Amino acid sequence: MVGYIDFHRRSIEDREGFWRDQSRLVDWQQTPQTICDYSRPPFVKWFVGGTTNLCHNAVDRHAAARPRDPALIYVSTETDTERTYSYADLLCEVERMAAIFIELGVKRGDRVLIYMPMIPEACFAMLACARIGAVHSVVFGGFAPASLATRIDDARPVLMISADAGMRGGKAIPYKHLVDDACRLAEHPPAHVLIVDRGIDKGFARTEGRDVDYAEMRRKHVDAAVPVEWLESSEPSYILYTSGTTGKPKGVQRDTGGYCVALAASMQHLFTGGPGETMFVTSDIGWVVGHSYIIYAPLIAGMATVMYEGTPIRPDAGVWWRIVEKYRVNVMFSAPTAIRVLKKQDTAWLHSCDLSSLKHLFLAGEPLDETTHRWIAEELDIPVIDNYWQTETGWPILSAMPGIEKTPIKYGSPSFPVYGYDLRLFREDGSECGANEKGVVGIVPPLPPGCMTTVWGQDDRFVSTYFSLFKDPLVYSSSDWGIRDDDGYYTILGRMDDVINVAGHRLGTREIEEAVQTHPGVAEVAVVGVADDVKGQVPMAFAVLKDAGAAATPEEAKRLEAEISRKVDEWLGAIGRPARVFFVSGLPKTRSGKMLRRAIQALAEGRDPGDLATIEDPSTLQQIRDRLSETR
Ligand code: ATP
Ligand code: MG
Repeated sequence: MVGYIDFHRRSIEDREGFWRDQSRLVDWQQTPQTICDYSRPPFVKWFVGGTTNLCHNAVDRHAAARPRDPALIYVSTETDTERTYSYADLLCEVERMAAIFIELGVKRGDRVLIYMPMIPEACFAMLACARIGAVHSVVFGGFAPASLATRIDDARPVLMISADAGMRGGKAIPYKHLVDDACRLAEHPPAHVLIVDRGIDKGFARTEGRDVDYAEMRRKHVDAAVPVEWLESSEPSYILYTSGTTGKPKGVQRDTGGYCVALAASMQHLFTGGPGETMFVTSDIGWVVGHSYIIYAPLIAGMATVMYEGTPIRPDAGVWWRIVEKYRVNVMFSAPTAIRVLKKQDTAWLHSCDLSSLKHLFLAGEPLDETTHRWIAEELDIPVIDNYWQTETGWPILSAMPGIEKTPIKYGSPSFPVYGYDLRLFREDGSECGANEKGVVGIVPPLPPGCMTTVWGQDDRFVSTYFSLFKDPLVYSSSDWGIRDDDGYYTILGRMDDVINVAGHRLGTREIEEAVQTHPGVAEVAVVGVADDVKGQVPMAFAVLKDAGAAATPEEAKRLEAEISRKVDEWLGAIGRPARVFFVSGLPKTRSGKMLRRAIQALAEGRDPGDLATIEDPSTLQQIRDRLSETR
């Protein structure tokens, strides 16, 4: 048995041998000749000479071997629908979708923009693109027309696929209407818009000659047989935009072969799922976690994957646990923000279900604070694994790897660098940090298989955004700040932009948030650095309480603020003590659940919060404005 340290070392020191071994986890039409071509740094091509297909690996090979095994389990608590597709069913639907795409003129290399709610047709559409070599660009459903139009103009799709409406928290969102507006705003609208009519928005408008009805087309292609298109390993599979937490989203371009191998390997070494097992990922297909771990990876591994439309607390806070029980989910993957929502609910919901099938819960997307990590691990009594990654990388950078070695979990830490990533922490001058020293999380290139190959259509932006932190050495900058302890465990301290400099001491927002969260009354908190004449910057905290009424009067709020300050003093020292702690009922987040600290900071400094196209609930900003003005 090889430990994770040796496994990782081999992946860096014998890169070719390591990834050649991993490449055997997937089917190739032509075997790769060169494993890694790094002749043009920082650009890298993986598995050169190999031809393969993501849809073949995710669907066809399993449909041939185990046609009746469940592939896609669809659960919608918005429309009260549940439906299971076997691998044979899935193949049939994907071929029909692919036949429709071909009829609508989609060819290899063309882009298809997918703007869909969490319905099975979205999965069929992604796989149909992969099947015929079209490049999908999934845009999170519900984005405003302007955001959608920007992405249309960047990707220039020949076809767009959407639905009449999405549903969220019981309310209909008229997608088709948003699509029509976006097509009007875009300079390069698609020739066709394929519409899945769910019967939710009865009165949507149809544009003659452009709009096509999916059900009608599907009927025409009952026995469609569409062969897979064998693609060169480095041909693009998709474009996906980053969450836009720090500004303008970047269009990440992904390859085909490298991605397929990286995902297959991650299912074995990290997520530990295989045929006969079920994976439930609570993300949305509009995000990278949804691309990699709702759709591609579990299917490549031959698992059943749960696609869920709904929220974690509707009809009640037991809904996810009932899915785990009913479908005997083995691997679950969610986000810290969702777990913090559940933490505010009665734990009886969790304990009333039989969760014995569950091996691991993985969490990613934001720092997982120690308090929440411990809470959920103790409630579930299984390993809860924090994993750190980015849209850019497509799969985890830092994580425990239970498929290789069952290392002890330290709460608040995403453990170790994952094989394939030559990860290091850097000082500002480009030298490397020692243990217990804060630095920028960097990856020495080449980036491993599965990571972005460039920014779509902008090679220069790829280099300038990600590889220009230092003149020398050449390093991929994650733009995040981290630290490593004596045992080799890493902690992400926040984004570089969010580092707070108090009287010459540099603190990650994460460090102060962590301390505030040790107060038992706090459910969630955001800390930002605010310009200060004397100290340079001071931290300011905005906290959501578990019991909203606990700070109802000014006296109660004052008392709680003092208690929280004491907690920070104990945990971090007075240097981290927030100048103020404000209590709010919600915090501004992106639609993928990431804290918009830059917007909070702007308000606290009396500036304009900037581009807020990705914000989930704008009223949270108003609350912050109100709290701040009460004290001015
Ligand atoms: P943009 O790059 O457009 O500003 P974004 O960085 O939020 O948006 P994503 O790729 O969705 O877009 O998010 C990746 C970022 O999320 C990471 O760089 C990191 O800041 C944060 N993150 C993800 N997982 C973790 C984790 N486990 N712990 C701490 N931070 C995490
Ligand atoms: Mg980012």
